[in-house]
Amino acid sequence: MRFATVGGRMKLVAASGKYVDVETASSGRLPADPQAVFERWEDLADWAGSAVDQYSGVVETYDDSALGPPSPRPRQVFAIGFNYRDHVDEAGTTVPEALQTFSKFQSAIAGPYADVVLPSQNVDWEAELVVVMGRTAHRVDELDAWGHVAGLTIGQDYSERALQMAGAFPQFSLAKSFPGFAPIGPVLVTPDELADPDDLEIECEINGEQIQSGRTSAMIFPVATLIARLSAVCTLYPGDLIFTGTPSGVGFARTPARYLSPGDVVTTRIESLGEMRQSCVGSGED
Ligand code: ZN
Repeated sequence: MRFATVGGRMKLVAASGKYVDVETASSGRLPADPQAVFERWEDLADWAGSAVDQYSGVVETYDDSALGPPSPRPRQVFAIGFNYRDHVDEAGTTVPEALQTFSKFQSAIAGPYADVVLPSQNVDWEAELVVVMGRTAHRVDELDAWGHVAGLTIGQDYSERALQMAGAFPQFSLAKSFPGFAPIGPVLVTPDELADPDDLEIECEINGEQIQSGRTSAMIFPVATLIARLSAVCTLYPGDLIFTGTPSGVGFARTPARYLSPGDVVTTRIESLGEMRQSCVGSGED
């Protein structure tokens, strides 16, 4: 099953690419608000199995630009650094023994086609698989981890590298949380739709030029391990996001370094999940 949000309402995506409003089509049995729907994820999955056929008379049509983030108001957004060996290598660091964890604050979340305002000339890209939680998880072991996932979506972990690297201690969370720096979408895809949810092609293009390419099977800590290790400390809640790290090809590791400019178009694509696209715009100060 595939889900999307439009105007802050959860929609089931029909095979036709059209949309079925979850609250309307369920006659109010399920709520419209996406965060409220995540709290009822098992009810939603039960209902949605038959909804496409049953409610084919009330499908809605939207342009891509209408789509919002599939989980717009998660309680928590976890993000993982250095989770692909080729990215570890290009960054000149060593494979971490523990998860390198930070947050992208909720105010950075945007829809899949929103413009991204560049606050400086040091904004970098990171194509990432994003996990959306569907059940509360605390001290979950790896074997049970996928059973707590609502679905997968695409994310960009936009990063302002000057702020991130300034001072004696890195500022990952701040530097990755400017408005629009956490776009996700276009849809949430349930794991059962995927032949192998642990092995998906992931790529990023800038102005049509491929700049990152990898497979999620190359993660140092795969999704189940991330959930087990994060939930060993924190309680993960329905709707929470996990940005799972990026493969190689980011801008700061290039010689010379390359960053985003106004007018650049960033396309992020993951096999079976679709693609997301942002246009970069200046802050008006440069
Ligand atoms: Zn990242």
